[in-house]
Amino acid sequence: MGVSVSCPRCGGAVRPPDMMHPDWRCDECGVVLPLHIAGHNGPEVMQSVVSQVTADTPGEREIVPLWCTWPLLPGWTVTGVAWAGDDRTGVRATALACSGPAPLGGGPADVMLVAEEPGVGLGPRFAGIPGPDPGLLLVRAMGGRDGEHSAHAKIKVDGHPTPLWSVRSPEDRSAYVGEARGMWLYAIAWPASAGFLLAEDVVLHDLCEWLPPELVYGAPSPYLHGKA
Ligand SMILES: [Zn+2]
Repeated sequence: MGVSVSCPRCGGAVRPPDMMHPDWRCDECGVVLPLHIAGHNGPEVMQSVVSQVTADTPGEREIVPLWCTWPLLPGWTVTGVAWAGDDRTGVRATALACSGPAPLGGGPADVMLVAEEPGVGLGPRFAGIPGPDPGLLLVRAMGGRDGEHSAHAKIKVDGHPTPLWSVRSPEDRSAYVGEARGMWLYAIAWPASAGFLLAEDVVLHDLCEWLPPELVYGAPSPYLHGKA
C-alpha cells in the first residue's frame, strides 16, 4: 500500500527518529506523530488500514475509531483514509474523507471525519483552528455550562445521539467538534454550506468494528491530499 508521511499539524515534512531523537519531528511543529495518508482508495486499502489501527498497541489504550457515515449519504463515496502514530506509539488519530453532492444542488462537497486523542492536532488543522486541542474555542462555542443544550448538530455515534459544536473556522468550510469514546471527534465540511449535511440524520459507524462490503470508494479527496 502506497503511503505518504507528513506532519499532522501542518502537512509539512517530518523527520523519522534517529540516534539522537526518539521521536518524529516537524521543523515547524516540533515533536509530532507521523501522519500516514493512504495513496489509494478501495476495499483492500481500507482493510489494511483497519488492521493497522486495531493492531496491538502499547499499554491499554482504547483503539481509535475510524468513523464513517454509514449508511453513506446518498450519492457519496469514501475518498481517503489516514492515521497518525507509529509502531512505538500505536495509532492515536484517524481521518476519513467522503465526497459527494452538496445539498440543494450546491456542487461537489467534501466531509472529513477525524477521531483523535488529545494533543495530536490533526482535527484542528483540517478545521482551521489553533491546536493541538480545541479547548477554549469549544468552551466558547458551547456557551457556558449547559453546553449540551446548545449543541449545533446532533449525530448518532455508536447508536447514541452525540452533540457537536460548530467552531469558528475559515470561511471555506464548516467545522464541528465533539467527543465520542473519550476522544475528540471532528467533522469538517467543504464548502461551508455543506455543513448543513451534518445537521441532518447522520449516523457514524466505526469501520474498525465492521467494514461494510458495500462501502463505495471514489477519487482521492483533494483536502486529505494536501489542499487543507
Ligand atoms: Zn508541522
